[in-house]
Amino acid sequence: MAGKVYLVGAGPGDPGLLTVRALELLREADVVIHDRLVPPEALEAIAGEKVYVGKEGGGEQVPQEETNRLLVEHARAGRSVVRLKGGDPFVFGRGGEEAQVLREAGIDYEVVPGVTAGVAASAYAGIPVTQRGMASAVAFVTGHEDPGKPETAIDWEALARFPGTLVFYMGVRALPRIAERLVACGRPADEPAAVVERGTMPGQRTVRGTLADIAARASEAGVRPPSISVVGPVAGLGLDWLEAARPLAGRRIAVTRARAQASALAGRLRALGAEVVEAPAIRIELLEATVPELGGYDLLCLTSPNGVERLFELVRDARALAGPAIAVIGPGTARALRAHGIEPDVVPERSVAESLVEALPPSRRALIARAEEARDVLPDALRERGAEVDVLALYRTVAEPLGEAAREAALSADYATFTSASSVRFFAEAAGTLAGPRLVSIGPATSEELRRHGREPDLEAEVHTPDGLVEVLVRDARR
Ligand code: SAH
Repeated sequence: MAGKVYLVGAGPGDPGLLTVRALELLREADVVIHDRLVPPEALEAIAGEKVYVGKEGGGEQVPQEETNRLLVEHARAGRSVVRLKGGDPFVFGRGGEEAQVLREAGIDYEVVPGVTAGVAASAYAGIPVTQRGMASAVAFVTGHEDPGKPETAIDWEALARFPGTLVFYMGVRALPRIAERLVACGRPADEPAAVVERGTMPGQRTVRGTLADIAARASEAGVRPPSISVVGPVAGLGLDWLEAARPLAGRRIAVTRARAQASALAGRLRALGAEVVEAPAIRIELLEATVPELGGYDLLCLTSPNGVERLFELVRDARALAGPAIAVIGPGTARALRAHGIEPDVVPERSVAESLVEALPPSRRALIARAEEARDVLPDALRERGAEVDVLALYRTVAEPLGEAAREAALSADYATFTSASSVRFFAEAAGTLAGPRLVSIGPATSEELRRHGREPDLEAEVHTPDGLVEVLVRDARR
């Protein structure tokens, strides 16, 4: 039985612009045949075999016939094949030719469109390719990167007359010629133009000018492929938004928290433009514990989302928690509890043990469910108030081995983030130093641990949550 080929667009580079369908197919395909300009995150999703058919280090492209042959051969062997291309497969991607080959070979195929660079890079540069009253049409034009290729395919007279925005793909080196011919054929020399380099990817740059000077400006700025050039009044609208939305662009930030929890923080940082180095220094080790009969307590304190998750694994039935008042240390723990259908009675304003103590209702018998190695602020304070206190250790934090590459990357980052005292302790031990990056602490207990290792935190979150940490980091980066 013959397999099937999916001609899939990978979008312009930002992994967030991969389609849901593309990701799904990448995970399921037996073979993925891909080009150079596809986001690394897309390649990471691949479970099956990967075959690269792009240019090798600026060298020769795998011949199209060879790619065609591979597609047919893998499909005939009964595999599901994803042919992954940058942007959209049918926009200057030779996807159409591949579909023809498959049709002739009698192989089933599907096409999954992608976000094409001409639209996406423009949008990320704040250029709407159409605009009411300004541009009611848009033309995608190939600029031919290879000067040896014939250009007779382009009718310059017609292009110059085109009543709308012109978007050139592959045209950086050809830009002087493109601009010159358009003007020679009657396009106004003062028409706005822009070149967008590495659109939607880290390090995106936009060079702006007019048809008269855009080529000189682009060459002065050293613009390189991949770039698109946009010609038309819309290129002069000045609607840039990227810098404001990506205050962490160009910054490298190390995340030291446990791998299982790092992704939410890493995701937020990436969305703000940062390059994230994952250098988990700790790992959570669950403990076997016997949860006492909770009906005997009037207060239950939970001090982390990990604690909540472990507690529910152990009790299984939420009704076991029906008796005592429940106090949590902060919004993350509250969220974890709500996910199990329980509304906490107490969430202090500030997410530190001291504030939790102040917010607690009177108690005669309290249970504190938490990490084995936590500070004693909470039990001590409760005992001082006359409560009988039991501590239930649900998990412990242990060192996660830090590879040499992760260590190097973290120490050379612009910032290193610490979301707990234990991440400071284990990172400092594994890395042997805290020197290099600016140190960002989530709150007082974490900062105290940094001081214990001889370093003053460069930044401390005002709100002691991951979001609060991101907030001070952004403020610092903006300065
Ligand atoms: N199928 C792709 C285009 C492939 S041709 C698509 O739909 O986007 C390759 C050309 O696309 C590059 O030379 C460049 O002009 C453009 N391109 C691709 N990715 C780009 C990006 N991230 N930023 C700017 N231009 C890009």
